[in-house]
Amino acid sequence: MSVADRLAGIRERIGAAARSAGRDPSSVRLVAVSKTFPINLIREAYAAGQREFGENRVQEALQKIAETTDLEIRWHLLGHLQTNKARKAGPAFATIQSVDSLELLQKLDQAAEQAGTKPELLIQVDLAGEASKFGAPPSEVPRLFEAAAACRAASVAGLMTLPPVPDTPEDARPWFRTLRDLRDGWLASGVPAPMLRELSMGMSGDFEVAIQEGATMVRVGTAIFGSRLVED
Ligand SMILES: *Cc1c(COP(=O)(O)O)cnc(C)c1O
Repeated sequence: MSVADRLAGIRERIGAAARSAGRDPSSVRLVAVSKTFPINLIREAYAAGQREFGENRVQEALQKIAETTDLEIRWHLLGHLQTNKARKAGPAFATIQSVDSLELLQKLDQAAEQAGTKPELLIQVDLAGEASKFGAPPSEVPRLFEAAAACRAASVAGLMTLPPVPDTPEDARPWFRTLRDLRDGWLASGVPAPMLRELSMGMSGDFEVAIQEGATMVRVGTAIFGSRLVED
């Protein structure tokens, strides 16, 4: 199967999952996760209409961005960004989904102001408290919303989570539900709605469950591009 065929299949499944949850399929953004995959596959997906792409390593992402300046891609950074790289790397991305500290948020905003960009930022929430993972614990997130209100160029637009690798799609559901419940709680406590518009959750194996639980952005790699030969 070609990338275009697989992409069409994913779009169909996104639509079906949305409709089964009583949601409008257009309320779910598909981010094609191209990490480890070559530029020619990104171009194939682009030719099939895909515009949002995600990478998780800064170096690899910057190289791919430089090689696709002829395309109108919205690049998402999904992986960890060191604070000291925010100024240089931040402005290359339309969306940064891995904001997990006050310092990084402020650095990204300063970098965007200097570069004249208006990035969309998502706060990565660490729900499982896994030592090996990045993300802010839920208890720290309200401080990030407060700081976001003072941002001048960047804007916080929602939440992202990367739960422990599930054995079955259903295993991921409680994590997705937890992120949605946190979102609802923060909305009820007065966090401005535009800061909580997006819920980025769900990957190749579990995006339908994520959509049923309210995902507005799903991040799909292998189901579009095939299996990764290299570990990311
Ligand atoms: C790799 C990755 C994905 C996509 O995973 P697949 O299983 O290939 O769909 C999604 N989100 C993040 C943060 C990733 O690193």
